[in-house]
Amino acid sequence: MSHLQQITVLGATGSIGLSTLDVIARHPALYQVFALSGFSRLVELEALCMIYRPRYAVVPDERSARHLQSGLHAAGLATRVLFGEQGLCEVAAHPEVDAVMAAIVGAAGLKPTLAAVEAGKKVLLANKEALVMSGALFIDAVRRSGAVLLPIDSEHNAIFQCLPGDYARGLEQVGVRRILLTASGGPFRETPLAQLHEVSPEQACAHPNWSMGRKISVDSASMMNKGLELIEVCWLFNAKPAQVEVVIHPQSVIHSLVDYVDGSVLAQLGNPDMRTPISHALAWPQRIDSGVAPLDLFAIARLDFQAPDEQRFPCLRLARDAAEAGGSVPAMLNAANEVAVAAFLERRIRFPEIASIIEAVLNAEPGVAVESVEAVLAADRRARELAGQWLSRRG
Ligand code: NDP
Ligand code: MG
Repeated sequence: MSHLQQITVLGATGSIGLSTLDVIARHPALYQVFALSGFSRLVELEALCMIYRPRYAVVPDERSARHLQSGLHAAGLATRVLFGEQGLCEVAAHPEVDAVMAAIVGAAGLKPTLAAVEAGKKVLLANKEALVMSGALFIDAVRRSGAVLLPIDSEHNAIFQCLPGDYARGLEQVGVRRILLTASGGPFRETPLAQLHEVSPEQACAHPNWSMGRKISVDSASMMNKGLELIEVCWLFNAKPAQVEVVIHPQSVIHSLVDYVDGSVLAQLGNPDMRTPISHALAWPQRIDSGVAPLDLFAIARLDFQAPDEQRFPCLRLARDAAEAGGSVPAMLNAANEVAVAAFLERRIRFPEIASIIEAVLNAEPGVAVESVEAVLAADRRARELAGQWLSRRG
């Protein structure tokens, strides 16, 4: 790499954003922060601006932009503060940007991530919800613009590393039989089913292996995260849902596997630390130090595997059905899940009701074909409305 790569970090104040900045800070001769965004943690965003001195910072609204701008100005920084979705799209597509870390959580990341794709950037995709929602439109935009799409989700990054370079020819063409998508099973893998009614947001967010934002932590506990990841696999690697098998692997050391027709199974292993996939994607096709400790196989000693239980984890079945249905259904699944997870985190519903809300929303209306981002956003809005009605009926 000859010139200093200019990096935009969307969602810089979050778990993935901070891990990305940690890796960038280890390689000042390779990467420079071009822009950072935050949403509610603006004091933290200001502190990050002081350290990384980005050209731009992006906040949700004009008032917080004025506030941050005056703080940064007083500190002698030349950082320009932008706001709103338009600001996010501007720093994602800016001509001087080389790579964009898409690490906003949820549907809010769709437009900025697509802006990076449409501008032909190297896009490091953590924001799986954007791809789940917009599927074919997203992948078509990657092809049209020549953007380089690299998966950050640890499983998808592992699969990418285990596939041959020409996998886009089709999985059958490159001799792949199945993709084995690993899942830790989350904190409730062994909780008696009758007790799932009683679990708290704190328990759901206490993931055994990974430290993550609250929304994805709840998704991991319900296994909707694995369901969204299954849909993500289908789009990233042009797989059919039937070619993807979910495997519970509680240690989270194997991050996924690819099963070839000759019986070879390739896996990627590593400590559960997102700095590995982030470093891989940032430097690809080269390798850089991530700060992650070497894997100690003797300390791990054993690796276990189990089949997932769909009675315990109905979200997995709902997501698989949505993957098969296609069209607007994955966007509705995602939106209903976002509403349900927020309601669970606010203690308005019980944990098993997350799946009940999603199922009710998906049963309320058939899916339709989606041919534009506007149609995707309309499906997202409709699902939020239906989920909201479910919540108000519940009282
Ligand atoms: P966090 O909740 O830790 O961070 C989310 C980021 O998005 C924060 O910077 C937050 O700002 C920002 N944000 C939240 N809402 C909005 C909004 N409406 N508009 C603009 N920005 C917003 O989540 P994670 O870092 O854990 O996850 C980020 C994405 O990466 C998710 O899509 C997740 O599924 C994916 N991912 C995460 C993994 C992990 O290990 N954490 C692993 C694999 C994928 P603020 O904090 O200032 O409010
Ligand atoms: Mg993952």
